[in-house]
Amino acid sequence: MDVTPILNQLNSAQEQAVTSDKKHLLVLAGAGSGKTRVLVHRIAWNIQVQNISPYGVLAVTFTNKAAREMRERIDTLLGMSLRGMWVGTFHGLAHRLLKTHWRDAKLPENFQILDSDDQLRLVKRVMRAMDLDEQRWPPKQAQWWINGQKDEGLRAAHIQDSGDPFLATMLSIYRQYEILCEQLAVIDFAELLLRALELWKNNPEVLEHYQQRFGHILVDEFQDTNAVQYAWLRLLAGNTSCITAVGDDDQSIYGWRGAKVENILSFERDFADTQTIKLEQNYRSTSNILSAANAVIAKNAERLGKNLWTQAGEGEPIGLYAAFNEHDESRYIADRLGAWIADGNRRDDAAVLYRSNAQSRVLEAALLQAEIPYRIYGGQRFYERLEIKNALSYLRMMLNCHDDVAFERVVNVPPRGIGERTLEQIRILAREQSASLWNAATTMVSEKRLAARAANAVATFIELINEMSGQLDELALVEQAENAIQRSGLIEMHRREKGERGQARVENLEELVNACRNFEPADSDAPVLPQFLDQVALDAGDRQADQDQDAVQLMTLHSAKGLEFPLVFIAGMEENLFPHKMSIDEPGRLEEERRLAYVGITRAMQKLYLSFAETRSIYGSESFNSISRFVRDIPKQLIEEVRLQNSISRPTTYAAAFNSDEGSATGFQLGQQIRHNIYGEGVILNFEGNGPRARVHVSFEEVGTKILILASANLAAV
Ligand code: ATP
Ligand code: MG
Repeated sequence: MDVTPILNQLNSAQEQAVTSDKKHLLVLAGAGSGKTRVLVHRIAWNIQVQNISPYGVLAVTFTNKAAREMRERIDTLLGMSLRGMWVGTFHGLAHRLLKTHWRDAKLPENFQILDSDDQLRLVKRVMRAMDLDEQRWPPKQAQWWINGQKDEGLRAAHIQDSGDPFLATMLSIYRQYEILCEQLAVIDFAELLLRALELWKNNPEVLEHYQQRFGHILVDEFQDTNAVQYAWLRLLAGNTSCITAVGDDDQSIYGWRGAKVENILSFERDFADTQTIKLEQNYRSTSNILSAANAVIAKNAERLGKNLWTQAGEGEPIGLYAAFNEHDESRYIADRLGAWIADGNRRDDAAVLYRSNAQSRVLEAALLQAEIPYRIYGGQRFYERLEIKNALSYLRMMLNCHDDVAFERVVNVPPRGIGERTLEQIRILAREQSASLWNAATTMVSEKRLAARAANAVATFIELINEMSGQLDELALVEQAENAIQRSGLIEMHRREKGERGQARVENLEELVNACRNFEPADSDAPVLPQFLDQVALDAGDRQADQDQDAVQLMTLHSAKGLEFPLVFIAGMEENLFPHKMSIDEPGRLEEERRLAYVGITRAMQKLYLSFAETRSIYGSESFNSISRFVRDIPKQLIEEVRLQNSISRPTTYAAAFNSDEGSATGFQLGQQIRHNIYGEGVILNFEGNGPRARVHVSFEEVGTKILILASANLAAV
């Protein structure tokens, strides 16, 4: 048998891993060292050399995209297509099992999957039936709690009621929610996994069938498996199957969703006869990029520790762009991308990564402007996001209360007690009278055709819209937007949500206010709001690249896991943005942010650009954040500050970008006592930016802290 194609292009550690004849294999290695490659080659090795049937192989990856790629790579390696092999995500595989064994899983045959929004709606329904106050018990928090329990493998019946009021309430919501899901024949994402686990636990014959079938189980991105997924793997493996797990503790970035990096540590204990192999050579990135990544991750205390080196040359330095603001940053990125494409490169080969979804809006605008096709991967475009559509619906109602679509969307969002029955009555009247929903609602209220509680709720909504639209002429667009998100209660509703999702929604809403603040109407004499809404409708049109068009990839750092691109930009390298402000004060979360930075940097193969903005309007207000600590952790000799006009130089004021430096290029030092003509005496707290735009933060004795442009502040040493 000619094994050359399979062992070709593997280094000796990789080859050892691919051909290992120990029962289990754990590959623990840093980014770009060929973990996924080993996994793919091991599957090919099993099938071609060990004569394992593809039918006996199960491979699990993190995203559907990764699963598709894996299958293609195996097919290419073997020169044929393997139908019988199971390759998928944990959720996808669980779904497949439940579809096959719905009876044993105690599900109706046609059960439906609930997405996160649908799930929230059900939780609310449960809470309403229980007469729980949503202010006191935010539904999102309950949803988060329920999913957290499921991720740990716990059903309501497993949880002890300790008498704690919070626990007792969550528990009773969980119980009722379980009953409702059962009635409606729906299952949420966390339930998919838990139900699949229970399917096996409760039906030994089904489990045995799969244990016998899957003699070889391979798992990629093992560091991000949660408790249920790990238990599922252990059950399936039983005493007979061979498991290959590959992962990198430094890339564990889903702790906030229940992922347990400890699973890596448990592996050798739980699976006797394991060979552990470390891979240390990185094949993905230039040595400059790799050194930067190594320097950033080195600051984490909780690491298993490994070396990563490359034979690749230094490559280009890491570009660092100090933007004036987020528009400047986006323009710069679009400009660099334009040059790269003009050089004959594929757009697919370039990615722009960011920490927060809200950052995409300005980037999207710059790419549209530069006519560079882009695709947002693993997420929705800004104006398609639920919370943004809601806020825009308020604006549309303010402009035209007869907008039925907007009416339907927000009449009870946030919930103000207008139930489906009331709405149906309004719809019927509107149909009868060929009137708008708004007119029908107004009639119902004035003619007292609704029950008191519903009537009150509808009247409140009508009054709110009337008041806000009454101020249309007096207020600037940005104030109208503020109204739409504040007075409507939209932003408050999302603030009460627990977890990243709610936080992201709040940020997006604030970002919308920003968009309004910066909006420049084409016709300065005409009312602004209609112009803004038209522009948004156009922006939201299908200008995103088609599925198979060559397009620049935009995505959050989280969704970039496992991928690689010749050219990578990471935008928004600022304190409070990245690391995210919610994580800065908690050591554990800060370490997770740092791992995310490591994931981001190691996506780049040839060229990496980092950028930060000296001022940024984000989350609804202007902030002056200093450069991210993750940039400061990169050795300076790896970085080259880039300027527009393609002039690349290491500027004399470079040090000023690094607050850690004593501001030597500015002539002042941190902590130095200075005097200002108007504000009097003060102490220098921070330097920010460089060149003519360099700023200095000064704490003045009389007037508190001010941020001044260094060049024009005329500070004198005292
Ligand atoms: P991540 O941690 O980001 O998931 P990984 O460890 O899974 O990374 P791979 O994606 O498998 O790494 O490999 C990184 C890149 O290096 C890929 O382009 C892969 O084809 C290449 N590569 C890996 N091993 C070798 C090798 N021995 N020879 C040549 N190229 C290799
Ligand atoms: Mg990988």
